[in-house]
Amino acid sequence: MIQHPLSDWLPITRKEVVNRGWDELDVILISGDAYVDHPSFGPAVIGRIIESYGLRIGIIPQPNWRDDLHEFKKLGKPKYFFAVTAGCMDSMVNHYTANLRKRSTDAYTPGGEAGFRPDYAVTEYTQILKKLYPDVPVVIGGIEASLRRVTHYDYWSDKLVPSILESSGADLLVYGMGEAPLREIIQLLTRNVPFNQLTMVKQTAYLRPITDGLPKNKRWNDKELTSHDICLKDKRKFAANFKIIEQESNKVNANRIVQKVGNQNLIINPPFDTMTEKEMDRAFDLPYTRLPHPKYKFRGPIPAYDMIKFSINIHRGCFGGCSFCTISAHQGKFIASRSEESVLKEVQQVTEMDDFKGYLSDLGGPSANMYKLKGKVKSICDKCVAPSCIHPMVCDNLDTNHDAMTQLYKKVDAMPKIKKAFIGSGIRYDLITRSYNKKADKSLEPYMEQVLKHHVSGRLKVAPEHSSAKTLKLMRKPNFDHFIEFKKNFDRINKKHNLNQQLIPYFISSHPGCTEEEMANLAADTKDMGFQLEQVQDFTPTPMTVATVAYYTGYHPYTLEPVFTAKTPHEKKNQHRFFFWYKRENHQWIKDSLAKIDRMDLAEKLLKFPTKGKPKVVSNEILTETKPDENGPKKHHGKKKKPFKAHTKHKGNKPKESRNKPKESRNSPNAGKNVKAKKKRFR
Ligand code: SF4
Repeated sequence: MIQHPLSDWLPITRKEVVNRGWDELDVILISGDAYVDHPSFGPAVIGRIIESYGLRIGIIPQPNWRDDLHEFKKLGKPKYFFAVTAGCMDSMVNHYTANLRKRSTDAYTPGGEAGFRPDYAVTEYTQILKKLYPDVPVVIGGIEASLRRVTHYDYWSDKLVPSILESSGADLLVYGMGEAPLREIIQLLTRNVPFNQLTMVKQTAYLRPITDGLPKNKRWNDKELTSHDICLKDKRKFAANFKIIEQESNKVNANRIVQKVGNQNLIINPPFDTMTEKEMDRAFDLPYTRLPHPKYKFRGPIPAYDMIKFSINIHRGCFGGCSFCTISAHQGKFIASRSEESVLKEVQQVTEMDDFKGYLSDLGGPSANMYKLKGKVKSICDKCVAPSCIHPMVCDNLDTNHDAMTQLYKKVDAMPKIKKAFIGSGIRYDLITRSYNKKADKSLEPYMEQVLKHHVSGRLKVAPEHSSAKTLKLMRKPNFDHFIEFKKNFDRINKKHNLNQQLIPYFISSHPGCTEEEMANLAADTKDMGFQLEQVQDFTPTPMTVATVAYYTGYHPYTLEPVFTAKTPHEKKNQHRFFFWYKRENHQWIKDSLAKIDRMDLAEKLLKFPTKGKPKVVSNEILTETKPDENGPKKHHGKKKKPFKAHTKHKGNKPKESRNKPKESRNSPNAGKNVKAKKKRFR
């Protein structure tokens, strides 16, 4: 058993700081998550990076924001800055189900207990720090800050809100993955550059009075967005902003974005280049204990940690560009991969863990099969503004050779202590379907065979998301025909090797563009394929996606054409209902609804039993779903719970508790985070 001294973790108490012989800290990180010292947990990654640059860093995980605030003061005042993150998830996604009900659990807290971080955590923490230490700069980052960096629609308050820099009062925002911007910030500060002169760091954003003008930079051109005030009055203009934001976020040579917010300019500097293999290895090879801090020993397991402790992240980023997804907005469109050596070294480390029984739960990334994929000619990618490399078709310049993955999986399989290495992350089925990826080389078939034979735990989950060509186009997903093709291939390999694997497809209802008729069609299409699905997921509008902008504004941000979205609880419920054609109580309703739109043919398809043999009952239950608990958390810091509204001082962003929006979503901001803990994304 590996025994770690307490000093192997970053300090989280005054005593641990003193034991290191430190009388002050350079940076103090406030985090909404418990401290799990693992490369899949963003706050630990940030802490370890800052440590690797030679700074003295301490973490205050989940400080109590409702008492005398002593936890915010316990490590004193840092020399350089406070860093603030809500944790691995946006705090609102963490706290509320898609139908805006309070969750009773929190996967990032010991014992899975809810109530250990505030709503809008970045804003709440920063406001507290600014009150306690007005002269100390605050740098915000992580998924919540990153995806709220510019005017955005906040689903939980049903409002258009300005950059989180404005509501929080933070001095600087780091968007995307923090390694490179933090390195530069630290280099400048340690060279005694005053904090307010940090205006040229890539991948950061800040506010400046309009009267101060824009800091001059010869390398960057500026792109001005429609101001926040005009966006409040003109939804179409807000929609148009999004196209610029998405393109500039994913460009190699991006412009600096500027937006007026009241009497200030929001200035968003262009992103850093995609991390190289060396940089990725360095980030993953930092001296993580891979364990929660020992202080949590008696507070119960941390569910998110339990889910990923035997999993390995092999790359970051996603070039899929799905319109409901936030991965590329946070991690980037270009893939940053680790070297095979670095991955194998980490697998070896995992196999040496005390409770490892030989089963690796995941060898993946945001989309499992994008490891090492990139453009053939870099100079073409350098000029590209396409939001997706695989929609509406696979780009000719994209090298989709899957051999690196097949080889890596085989090498992991060959390790003596590995019984099975599962691919738990979602596989992009379209990339390995020849009807869609027409020009692909011969690496697809061996990859698919390797995955189905050795890396699936009985159920392969993929996400066609819909069957309607119109809705799929809006989702930036391929036509349903390709899923049918994939299924044929899946069935063939299954039969050939006598595998008995099950295919679990995932679908979204009420996505912008989707009508009731299309949902009825989807239900009929899947019934026809032999599926009897138990769950369809309801679209949740999370910040910084094409679909969220379409949901709020009613316009597609690229075409500015009107887009219908089912929004009322009644409309949303109806979209769901067709899926449950096999429930007797829905039969009359299905007949009546489809008669009204003259589609009795569909009613007949849905209600005639059986069609092609008996439909298979397929449970596609979403693992994140938690039972709504309108009474809120059971306790917090040993005190009697307060009603939800009292938990936050955040103004104007109260969730509408009465809105009834079904089910937790896969299209949530946590998709962009390192931790794939609550539920893997399936693409
Ligand atoms: S050129 Fe093709 S491969 Fe390169 S970024 Fe653009 S779409 Fe992707």
